[in-house]
Amino acid sequence: MKNLKIAIQKSGRLNEKSVQLLKNCGLDFENYKSSLITTVNNFNLEILFLRDDDIPGYVAQGIADLGIVGENVIDETEAKVTYLQRLGFGRCTLKIAIPRDSDVQDLKDLNGKSIATSYPVILQQFLNEYHIQADIREISGSVEIAPGLGLSDAICDIVSTGGTLKSNGLKPFADVRTSEAILIGRDGLEENPILGELLQRVQSVLRAKETKYVVLNVEKINLPQITELLHGVKSPTVVPLAEEGWVAVHTVITEDDFWDKINTLKAAGAQGIVVMPIEKIIL
Ligand code: ATP
Ligand code: MG
Repeated sequence: MKNLKIAIQKSGRLNEKSVQLLKNCGLDFENYKSSLITTVNNFNLEILFLRDDDIPGYVAQGIADLGIVGENVIDETEAKVTYLQRLGFGRCTLKIAIPRDSDVQDLKDLNGKSIATSYPVILQQFLNEYHIQADIREISGSVEIAPGLGLSDAICDIVSTGGTLKSNGLKPFADVRTSEAILIGRDGLEENPILGELLQRVQSVLRAKETKYVVLNVEKINLPQITELLHGVKSPTVVPLAEEGWVAVHTVITEDDFWDKINTLKAAGAQGIVVMPIEKIIL
């Protein structure tokens, strides 16, 4: 069967997690910093390492079959690709920010202002939606310094901690869109059996990441209360301990659920709670 090609970011914020996801899917490949393409030894797949901006276009044109890239880049390039799976990493928000002493108070105050950004397409859509007429100044990087240099009245850029904004005398003003990394495919790939196999592996890794394997000890008389609190993949496994009247309870729960429940579990008599990571969950 012909190999599929997946394009991932060569270096940058999405590179490490994209590589890790593919490795967690059981794919065996070399990841030399210098190589632009590598073949997976145990799966019909080749990996292309590209600038993230080029990934949607490569996939839309069918040069790559699949890609991992931020939604912000897909929207900005307006590439025609199929969304296959949200991946839960690379989360960020594209925001409009203004100088701390700006007279802009309301979205409509942006009328007639200039906004510097590397995301002119997404920003234009946002401005159209709110019927704002502003002058978009496209620059490719270091957008935060534009207002300080007198190039623009505001900026639109990806903000995570806000630290860069602050050190440039800016403050966040409006959220334009949120984004996360997405597995995309070229149109018409949906029926491909290699894709089916890869998607199943990706989904089992994602499911496992959200869940933990929990083992705890409890006195048998408290067991009903504990099982009531734990709704796992199925009902928990209960194993007798050497000590008479005690059992170990094994189950799988989501991590969020666990932090919510830990105190209630302890109050219900759970002891020696051990939490372990899960590699994959195949349903
Ligand atoms: P490339 O050299 O591949 O073009 P880049 O410099 O354009 O890389 P990165 O800064 O590595 O891009 O970011 C890649 C993607 O990571 C962004 O498009 C976005 O989807 C996501 N991302 C997550 N958090 C952030 C953040 N704090 N700042 C910027 N991008 C982020
Ligand atoms: Mg880029």
